[in-house]
Amino acid sequence: MNLFSLLDQAATRYPQNGAVFLGEQQVSSFAELRTRSLQIAAALRREFAAGDCIAIMSENRPEYVELFFGIWAAGMVVAPVNAKLHAREAVQILEDSEAVAAFVSPKLVGALEQALEGSSASKCHQFVIGGEDYVSLFQDKWDGPISASPEALAWLFYTSGTTGRSKGAMLSHRNLMAMTISHLADMETVDENSSLLHPAPMSHGSGLYIPAYIARGARQVVPRSAGFDPAEFMDLCDVHPSCGVFFAPTMVQRLRLEVEQSGRRPANLRSIVYGGGPMYVEEIRKSLAIFGQVFSQIYGQGESPMTITGLRRADHATDDDEILGSVGFARSGVEVAVVTAEGTPVASGEVGEIICRGDVVMSGYWNNPKATSEALKDGWLYTGDMGSFDDHGYLTLRDRSKDVVISGGTNIYPREVEEVLLKHPDVGEVCVVGQPHPEWGEIVVAFIVADNGAAIAEKSLDAHCTDHIARFKRPKRYIFVKELPKSNYGKVLKRELREKLLALDA
Ligand code: AMP
Repeated sequence: MNLFSLLDQAATRYPQNGAVFLGEQQVSSFAELRTRSLQIAAALRREFAAGDCIAIMSENRPEYVELFFGIWAAGMVVAPVNAKLHAREAVQILEDSEAVAAFVSPKLVGALEQALEGSSASKCHQFVIGGEDYVSLFQDKWDGPISASPEALAWLFYTSGTTGRSKGAMLSHRNLMAMTISHLADMETVDENSSLLHPAPMSHGSGLYIPAYIARGARQVVPRSAGFDPAEFMDLCDVHPSCGVFFAPTMVQRLRLEVEQSGRRPANLRSIVYGGGPMYVEEIRKSLAIFGQVFSQIYGQGESPMTITGLRRADHATDDDEILGSVGFARSGVEVAVVTAEGTPVASGEVGEIICRGDVVMSGYWNNPKATSEALKDGWLYTGDMGSFDDHGYLTLRDRSKDVVISGGTNIYPREVEEVLLKHPDVGEVCVVGQPHPEWGEIVVAFIVADNGAAIAEKSLDAHCTDHIARFKRPKRYIFVKELPKSNYGKVLKRELREKLLALDA
């Protein structure tokens, strides 16, 4: 089965319904979206072969949707590139993926052209989205069959690189179909009167939900700002019906703060699926109080896209902080286990590495057998995340193994310390990392963003920590910052904070 069939079926059922919107304005109906995607497919197949990789390098734009389905209909593989990457990093991805063509937004084309000089990717054909070349794609008619092998690659998903150089997780049509079905089974009820808003990058999490919404005949809405502006987001929720959205946890917080400050509420907000980074209990409680039961949480990674475990909407109606602080239980079609370094399952309550298997899991990293053999063993994906199950199958994530702070030979999980610090009334945001130390091996260091710029006495933070957690877990050092460095996906960049520590002490 080819993912294009989802659009084909929806366009047959709802040809006149609006499929893609820019802000409040309709860009294409389902029938038009199908026609345009097939025209793109026909034009691509004139120049390139099935199985070729086509990159997209663009901030969020409506064209993403026709490009995804056009590339899939052509039997080709899409490699979306994060628009916020440095042009040199983007070129690395073009080189690694061996993309034969790239659809580039007018904003990014200048920097890319410079960075391509002397690169093996300089032969990659560039289409400027909306430019003459792009417009000329819409002349052909597709008249061939659509390739239907579920094992064919559909998406080269470049990992965010927060843990090193970006790698291309190979996702097939089967992988993405499994993800789509699991999303519709576990997380959201979507129908032809629903809308999916895209304030988060369509090159990653937000884009991965496009097939599920297309399958149900729902709208795709791209904000005019091409990103997340909380006030604009609320405007769009006023205009479009039954809105759903994927948010990084930091976006949930930004929306909550906007609602608190403006006193305004998003009218047709039906569902916020959040994930991709830790959501703190303190924050989700505040957000539930404001928005009600609209939340569900996913835990996944590019290698098992959006789908390892999930905390369903109903699970959010709990008084139990342990459940709210967990990432829920195994998703439909996915087996999840927690194992020792030797791969033996541990008892519930014990921490180990999280592994998973199922149709959603990638087949490996593109052109990288070494990384593939480290990540995939005996059919299981080793996630590199540490966690523990409780007796009812709820998984609590600790930290990535390399983020655990080992101080005096004892493991300290930054997340636990962060949860406690966030309960302090003057703390707005926090990130805990380890710093090498001659006596202790490592010490716990907390980067703190104070709420409303208030000064916080270290003593008060210290007392607060010793009230809530074991003494040895409390930070030995506090560093106050105006903001935490974050990636385009809203993930805190611990690597940058560690570098900052080195620079501070140099
Ligand atoms: P990426 O492949 O860039 O999406 O990063 C995936 C990583 O983000 C996972 O391996 C986790 O470490 C982290 N992550 C994803 N979802 C969650 C979540 N719900 N809570 C905490 N961390 C998460």
